[in-house]
Amino acid sequence: MSEFDFDLFVIGAGSGGVRAARVAAAHGAKVALAEEYRVGGTCVIRGCVPKKLLIYGAHFAEDLRDARRFGWHVPDCDFDWATLRDNVLAEVDRLEGLYCNTLSSHSVHLIRERAEVRGPHEVETAGGARHTAATILIATGARPAVPDCPGAELGITSNEAFHLAELPRRVVIAGGGYIANEFAGIFNELGSRVTIVNRSGEILRGYDDSIRDRLLKISVEKGIDFRFHAPFERVEPREGGGVIVHVGGQDPIPADVVMFATGRAPNTQGLGLEQAGVTLDAMGAVPVDEDNRTPVPSIFAVGDVTNRVQLTPVAIREGHAFADSQFGGNPRRVDYHCIPSAVFSHPPLAGVGLTERQARERHGDVKIYQSDFRAMKNVLAGRDERALYKMIVDPTDDRVLGLHMIGPDAPEILQAAAVAVKAGLTKQAFDDTVALHPTMAEELVLLR
Ligand code: NDP
Repeated sequence: MSEFDFDLFVIGAGSGGVRAARVAAAHGAKVALAEEYRVGGTCVIRGCVPKKLLIYGAHFAEDLRDARRFGWHVPDCDFDWATLRDNVLAEVDRLEGLYCNTLSSHSVHLIRERAEVRGPHEVETAGGARHTAATILIATGARPAVPDCPGAELGITSNEAFHLAELPRRVVIAGGGYIANEFAGIFNELGSRVTIVNRSGEILRGYDDSIRDRLLKISVEKGIDFRFHAPFERVEPREGGGVIVHVGGQDPIPADVVMFATGRAPNTQGLGLEQAGVTLDAMGAVPVDEDNRTPVPSIFAVGDVTNRVQLTPVAIREGHAFADSQFGGNPRRVDYHCIPSAVFSHPPLAGVGLTERQARERHGDVKIYQSDFRAMKNVLAGRDERALYKMIVDPTDDRVLGLHMIGPDAPEILQAAAVAVKAGLTKQAFDDTVALHPTMAEELVLLR
């Protein structure tokens, strides 16, 4: 008999926590999982999944317009936000149910309460119960970080965006990252007037410059208003409803909704980690080694709470590797090299490997191959919206260092191409592959 109540106590039922709990249980561990909100975490409940469904919904605006050029008699169509919102939320409920089923079918003991760490082997849940465990896993994720400015409480974050009572006519989005550009695309297509306000002069820092510039150009053409070098100053309530947003160097901007998309902070407040001996970093993240272990040997952490790579598939891999290593007799580590990522903007963009700027810094001279084209569907639709694919190659050995693209279905196409980049294939290997015609993806094997 173990001296502990559980072999593993997981705090947080998001992507990383659920995967770790399920896999550890499948390896035979006695597992408890505490969750203070809903099972599924950011990705399922208020992130990737509902966001992608809203993007599908928003895309119909353009598809219905284009359909006329393809011979369809499309009457003037109305959009009903409440229908889309409620159907999306119902799908989220369904997925949460599936997650709960998976946990119960693996005999994971689910505790629907907040849990806090009380010691290297002890956890207390909100109801006051204390549980001991040989190993504790922190998988509490992250939450939207809202700048500290007067009136910030009048704004929403992506958490609330999925529940809006009605579609805002005018929306101001603070930030120029993933969430800002994705929601700008959604609201703009659905008919809102969108203004993005960013403190710097750049959107989507970390992505390739050419791809970011192309998104900015297309977004402006689609009617999204960008205000750069505009630090957020304050938000005031507006007589008759809505808000007035004050930003540096600009006239005040009236809006129905102001949404903060200014990064995400690790969820460690009041978690008891410091008292248990885990000193958090300046961002409040849990420091871990390559085995996801904190300085306290019995406490581990995976996912956004560690602030390494804030992406769902990475959290899932970390949770899986942790469970295999600690409970499956199969020690392994996550390989962070060449992680593909995408922004589901309108149109979407995606990238893997080094950007041109990073490649030049690390490798000096690099070869750049590009295809700047109009997707066939856009041509017939009469839309002057160009896709851009860009490959960065090491001239010394012809290896592809990076691949970046913006255009319809770019994330779908890049996922497959990322296998080749991750495998270290050469430009010649792409050239040797016969094109699949007519597709957009064929541009990848025809790059000059
Ligand atoms: P991002 O880190 O992508 O972007 C944050 C933006 O907010 C930047 O433009 C940044 O400006 C600005 N900003 C940061 N702090 C402040 C501040 N105090 N005041 C004003 N502006 C500020 O964050 P998001 O919130 O968009 O997304 C969080 C994370 O979630 C992403 O980094 C990503 O890892 C993940 N995510 C992934 C998605 C996907 O895979 N498709 C979708 C959504 C989220 P500056 O650049 O000038 O610093």
